[in-house]
Parts: sequence; C-alpha cells; structure tokens
Amino acid sequence: MGKLSRRELLFGRLRAGVSRAVPPATETPQQDDAPKVAVIQGRHCLAYRELMCSTCFERCPEKGAIVVERGIPQVVTDRCTGCGDCQDVCPAPTNAILMTRPRTAISRGGA
Ligand code: SF4
Ligand code: SF4
Repeated sequence: MGKLSRRELLFGRLRAGVSRAVPPATETPQQDDAPKVAVIQGRHCLAYRELMCSTCFERCPEKGAIVVERGIPQVVTDRCTGCGDCQDVCPAPTNAILMTRPRTAISRGGA
C-alpha cells in the first residue's frame, strides 16, 4: 500500500476531529422519563378567579395530594405521584395543571 499524501493525512485528521466533536444521539439523556409532580398555575385556574371548581381535587386518586383551602386547590408535592389525572380533567380554557420535575415544583403555582 502506497504512502498517504500530506493532503490525505490532513483531511483524515479533520474528519476524525469532527466525528469526535459530535456525540452520537444515544448519549443525550432522556430527561422526559424523570418523575414529575403536579403544579397548579393560579393564573389559569378557575378557582383563583372565584369560579367554583375543584375537579382536580375530586379526581385525584392519591389521598391528601391535593387540598382545598377557602376554595383554592393546592398540590402537596410530597404526596403527588405524578399520575397526571388532574391535568387530564382540568376544565380551564388554558389547562392550569403543569407537570414538572419536583426540584422545580412549588406548592402553590404562581397566582
Ligand atoms: S381542575 Fe383546574 S381549574 Fe379546576 S380547580 Fe383544579 S386546577 Fe383549577
Ligand atoms: S398528578 Fe395525580 S397524584 Fe398528583 S395531584 Fe394530580 S391527580 Fe393527584
């Protein structure tokens, strides 16, 4: 086999550099699989607008995961399993339930 020219050597090194710089897609972490909890966004929730609604509270299968105080629902993050049932049934024009990872969750979602 013949010797490689300077040009072939240079392009060979460049190609090797590019293939090292771009990681394969399988190395990207699958963060969507991380467990989540519900957060009620007050600006979208009907109850925050003094409209009668406690659908999320009524349909939550986990006892104590949602409490209602003076008509306002709140998620108890430690009890929420992240099942998403409350999000599925929220009747607000813009869904008031956000499913998010626990470290970014707040117990009462920004009125
Ligand atoms: S179901 Fe939706 S609109 Fe109704 S109280 Fe719960 S978060 Fe608010
Ligand atoms: S995600 Fe499931 S457990 Fe958590 S508050 Fe909603 S309905 Fe309840």
